[in-house]
Amino acid sequence: MELKYCWRCKMEVLMLNKEEHAIASKLYAKGFKVLKKDRQERFKELLDYYNDLTGFGETEPNAIMHHSLAQFGPDCEKCGKPYRTQKAKLCAACGNKRIVTE
Ligand SMILES: [Zn+2]
Ligand SMILES: [Zn+2]
Repeated sequence: MELKYCWRCKMEVLMLNKEEHAIASKLYAKGFKVLKKDRQERFKELLDYYNDLTGFGETEPNAIMHHSLAQFGPDCEKCGKPYRTQKAKLCAACGNKRIVTE
C-alpha cells in the first residue's frame, strides 16, 4: 500500500500493491454474487478489507478497484506525481519527458 496521486480521483489516495489488489479483486468478484440491493452491503467485504488496511472510509467499490499501484507508472522525476501508465513517456502533470533507463 502506498500513497499516490490518482489521475481519476484527482487527489492522493492509498493504492494497493499487487498482493493486496489481488485480494481486493476476489472480494469484488464475490460482491457480484451477493443478492442484496444495497451496493455497500454487497461489497461490504471489499470495503471492510480496504478500510481496515488503509484506515480510510471508502464507500465506492469501483474506486478501490482502480487504486492499484500496478496500473500506474513510477513517480515523475520532476513533480513526483506518478506517470499515468507504466509506458507513459511524458508526465501528464508537468510535461516532463521521462528518462527511460533500460
Ligand atoms: Zn482514484
Ligand atoms: Zn511531472
